[in-house]
Amino acid sequence: MSEEHFKNVISHSKEYGFVFPSSEIYDGLAAVYDYGQNGVELKKNIREYWWKSMVQLHENIVGLDASIFMAPKVWKASGHVDGFSDPMIDNKDSKKRYRADVLIEDYQEKYRVKNQKEITKARKRFGDDFDEAQFVATNPNIARNNAKIEEIDVKLKEGLETGQLDKVKALIEELGIACPVSGSRNWTDVRQFNLMYSTQMSATDGESQIYLRPETAQGIFVNYLNVQKTGRMRLPFGIAQTGKAFRNEIVARQFIMRMKEFEQMEMQFFVTPGEEKKWYDYWKEHRLKWHTNLGTDASKYRYHDHVKMAHYANAAVDIEYDFPFGFKEVEGIHSRTDFDLKQHEEFTGKKLQYFDNDKNESYVPYVVETSIGLDRMFLVLMCNALQNEDLGEGKSRTVLKLPAALAPYQCAVLPLTKNDGLPDMARKIIKGLSLDFNCYYEEKDSIGKRYRRQDAIGTPICVTVDHDSLTDDSVTIRFRDSMEQKRVKLSDLEDIITKEVSMKELLKGLV
Ligand code: ATP
Repeated sequence: MSEEHFKNVISHSKEYGFVFPSSEIYDGLAAVYDYGQNGVELKKNIREYWWKSMVQLHENIVGLDASIFMAPKVWKASGHVDGFSDPMIDNKDSKKRYRADVLIEDYQEKYRVKNQKEITKARKRFGDDFDEAQFVATNPNIARNNAKIEEIDVKLKEGLETGQLDKVKALIEELGIACPVSGSRNWTDVRQFNLMYSTQMSATDGESQIYLRPETAQGIFVNYLNVQKTGRMRLPFGIAQTGKAFRNEIVARQFIMRMKEFEQMEMQFFVTPGEEKKWYDYWKEHRLKWHTNLGTDASKYRYHDHVKMAHYANAAVDIEYDFPFGFKEVEGIHSRTDFDLKQHEEFTGKKLQYFDNDKNESYVPYVVETSIGLDRMFLVLMCNALQNEDLGEGKSRTVLKLPAALAPYQCAVLPLTKNDGLPDMARKIIKGLSLDFNCYYEEKDSIGKRYRRQDAIGTPICVTVDHDSLTDDSVTIRFRDSMEQKRVKLSDLEDIITKEVSMKELLKGLV
């Protein structure tokens, strides 16, 4: 995939009503986006796939919907007031601002790309006999590249963890990293920049400064005891939540990849201390399966262990996807220890403990969290699904091969012509189907053009009503991916569509 493909994803998203720049008629607002008529459906379906797989399929996970505003002290306790910042650096010539750690990580990526090239070359040379693991373990070029990546990791970690930002700048200079815009190496010092937005709760209130939550997780922690007690939950158990989060990202770029207002889907899993490793491994594997279950090529995903561990974590891994601009985080799995609950105990003076009947003792549970950005997942699906398919004889089509259960419309019902009672029959069919499915009705233009429009928004099945339908109670169905058409009885229609598009079929892959 290329930059070209990414440009196509952005323009397709706009042209077909998936994503619009916010306040566009006022020339937009940087890094803020609105979801259009098709985008909102896709987003809702991704959220539903997540919710069902987490809450419905796990008897020990329940949901929550906490407020965006929280008592300001929450963010003091969580460490966000003092520590939620990114190291930033400006290029003096282009006046562009970058995250210092991202500049360095992008530099490291070049070595990973080199390794990949070595592997591809060797595979071509050795053919079927190629043993990738052995090659990676013994090839001197790969060893040299890995050593370089490792050496940079160590230096970056040292600078970030000790707060010695001059070391991070020194590393940028040592690696000769240049500004992608100006091409110069004329950098400012590296500084920390807090990402939380604040606003006023009330003009008269003593504690009037209040934050827009930068993550949904804290709403779960402060409600931990409410849910545990009223839900009579026993360890291990989880609380899941989806909702908006806000971050004043220094470098907002790459479309909906990094936004100032975005949606998270998080689950905090409370466990007995000592069992966190087991559950961390479980969620690491389970979450990757959730991604690949959507039919995405598994080689497009990888784990990336954290170099820079957040202050609260004892293990952390990212699930990364190979976007057109390289492998980037979609989801994080963090073993957060008892850090958050203990902090809230300390700041409130209230106990947030669990009484373990078996052990006959009280303790603060440990937490393993899974945290995925809904918007980033949306971008994964759009990048993966959008294809320009060569149909031979100089013909091509644009098709959005979304997982059928997540498509904005599950089916379109199209009368072949605008007259002879065909629209009435089509509408009658929709009336029945729309109890289960989101159906699209359209009668304008030739049937071929209408198929193409449905391909472009990812509708898995088109149902065409023609003159024969009036007498034989049959319709033609056409499948998006294969473009195969077949005649089916009206009485079978619902079952056929259900089989093709149901969330149930998708969820079966996870149980
Ligand atoms: P990054 O390193 O990319 O800034 P992060 O490590 O800060 O991400 P987390 O705090 O772990 O991200 O948040 C969990 C998930 O929320 C991320 O995996 C990502 O999918 C999503 N996310 C975080 N920040 C943004 C953002 N600004 N825009 C869109 N999604 C985001």
